Amino acid sequence: MNTVCCYCGVGCGITVRKNKLGRLQVEGNKDYPVNKGMLCSKGMNLHYTANDYSDRLLYPEMRYNRNQPRRRVSWDTALERTAAVFKTLIEKYGPDSVAFYASGQCLTEEYYVVNKLMKGYIGSNNIDTNSRLCMSSAVAAYKRSLGEDSVPVSYEDLELADVIFVAGANPAWCHPILWRRVEAARQRNPLLKIIVSDPRKTQTVASADIHFQLNPGTDITLHHAIGRALIENGWVDTTFIREHTEGFAAYRETVFQRSIAEAALICGVAETDILQAARYINKAKGFMTMWTMGLNQSVIGVNKNLSLINLNLITGHIGKPGSGPLSLTGQPNAMGGREVGGLSNLLPAHRNLSKEQHRREVEDFWGIAPGTISPRPGLTATEMFEALEDGRLKAIWILCTNPLISLPDVRRAEAALKKAKFVVVQEISNKPETLQYADVVLPAAAWTEKEGTMTNAERRISLLNKINDAPGEALPDATIICRFARKMGFPGFDYESPAAIFEEHAALTGGTKMDISSLNYNILRQRNSVQWPFTTKHLAAADKEDQQGTKRLFENQQFFTPTQRAQLHSFPDVNQSEPLTPDFPFILTTGRIRDQWHTMSKTGKVNKLRQHISASFLEIHPEDAAALGINEDDLVAVSNPRGEVRVRAKLTDTIKKGVVFLPMHWGKLLGRDLVRANNLTNNLTDPQSKEPDFKYTAVAICRYRKP
Ligand code: SF4
Repeated sequence: MNTVCCYCGVGCGITVRKNKLGRLQVEGNKDYPVNKGMLCSKGMNLHYTANDYSDRLLYPEMRYNRNQPRRRVSWDTALERTAAVFKTLIEKYGPDSVAFYASGQCLTEEYYVVNKLMKGYIGSNNIDTNSRLCMSSAVAAYKRSLGEDSVPVSYEDLELADVIFVAGANPAWCHPILWRRVEAARQRNPLLKIIVSDPRKTQTVASADIHFQLNPGTDITLHHAIGRALIENGWVDTTFIREHTEGFAAYRETVFQRSIAEAALICGVAETDILQAARYINKAKGFMTMWTMGLNQSVIGVNKNLSLINLNLITGHIGKPGSGPLSLTGQPNAMGGREVGGLSNLLPAHRNLSKEQHRREVEDFWGIAPGTISPRPGLTATEMFEALEDGRLKAIWILCTNPLISLPDVRRAEAALKKAKFVVVQEISNKPETLQYADVVLPAAAWTEKEGTMTNAERRISLLNKINDAPGEALPDATIICRFARKMGFPGFDYESPAAIFEEHAALTGGTKMDISSLNYNILRQRNSVQWPFTTKHLAAADKEDQQGTKRLFENQQFFTPTQRAQLHSFPDVNQSEPLTPDFPFILTTGRIRDQWHTMSKTGKVNKLRQHISASFLEIHPEDAAALGINEDDLVAVSNPRGEVRVRAKLTDTIKKGVVFLPMHWGKLLGRDLVRANNLTNNLTDPQSKEPDFKYTAVAICRYRKP
């Protein structure tokens, strides 16, 4: 049966079969347009995880106080107690005293029901997800520049481009199948130029014609300098700027405030490379920009995004084959979550929480009283844990995510969970650190054990078929949420199947820019997958390609802004990250390694994947290491006032001097938490997107000596 990979946002198609012993086997789906049968190391080892029940949660568990062990209870008991506690807290402290913290790994149907429950019935917008840590800066930037959260391109555009600018991303390791498509395109078109900006020489850089090994936090300066070079040399599309954009005069003034030489100095890159990059872009018939966490996870993340999108806009490279901005997502269904409005500031189908008309549309559709949906944005990921700490938030329900590894300043988050009055954890595994704080544990069905849809980073919606039964009493996440909603006494959660939830979600998109109101599971089965918007025109199309939905947005060059013009935004290029000091003089940046994914709750179980890199490490430049008396493989302490990490040093000149790198995957080991990178990161967030600043933390480093 066909499904989709549950790891990164590339969204590769997978065929799963059962062998004679009933064990699952996976292979790439050869008919799936994203990967055409290919899988990366993580995807091709998914059967190990799917067949391993050793750490699965099998039954609901509960306790009345944290000094007691949890005991197995029935689903009714667990959900009735949870409903009773939620009702009491809401009655006493109001609906904003409770929150749901979900995940970009949730299926769209799961996202939809939890969002409906919280915003439409509990009456609070305190529903946010770990996607806040991943791509919320891109959401805000698309809205501001293009009028809506809308990725305008398809993966195919990467194969049609002449220049690809990869900014703050390492797709060769983190989105491997997409990068293999780029490498194959390079074989067919040796003139394809690849520009990469990254403080590290990553595997992606191995394919680059230009590598901007820039100083962390200087991306806007670099993008502005390339913009200036394009304008100065007359390499912009003046007709497109005049007829389809707004804000060019202010943009021009901003980028001309620094000379290219000055910008090069700030970024720590060569002026000639900036000019060469502009030359490449000028010659390109197709120019793609592509980015992930290096831009998104920043205190100036939205502006970093906008400054890159500006390069597509001033050159008119959007809405045509091989051209446009492509933000990659780290999680498989971050896009689906955005579509159902599953963040604390969104409403379904990209409606705006702040617009009364949009709130009324959703209220009418859900059949709830006008005014039920609050116009006030709810708490975001980091704000939820701050609110638990100061007592504003009393209860949190965590589903499908492991915040005690993934949140910034994680020890503070841990202290906040300790203080919470009531914690519900909905999980597949008995391993996550959150479980020690859980008052109620709800066992969830895993990837192959439920049905639903996901949307990948190119707006492609796919159906995941149920292949095997969940162990013990584990239930699909949507079923758990709907059963809880009914225990709360709310109508509107009596769905017969995930297909019925999807049809309700699809109907709510009718008349919006992401219209999929004509879509259902049968069509997804027949057509393999489709890209939104998917309208009656696509439903009735005779042409095979048209039957697949919308490959590219803005081909008519009419944007989703009120004036239908794309917006060029201007802003200063100064980084707002926490400053370095003489005591904490190094910039710590965190990220992924090739064969692990997120907090290793799935990939960490696979021996083959652990063989690539088996333990956490600190990448440090040999000159920095020499100055500190650190040798290869020495145990080093990385510290700041928030915490410490002790790992082995890896000396490499692939990292910039003054910058060090820690992988983000590892959590507590043998009860010690000294490998968690997020012991060190800080709670600063972008003021527009509320995405944390994972890529810039001030730290001290020394060789570790036992006290
Ligand atoms: Fe899965 Fe991403 Fe690898 Fe594809 S590239 S197999 S979606 S992890």
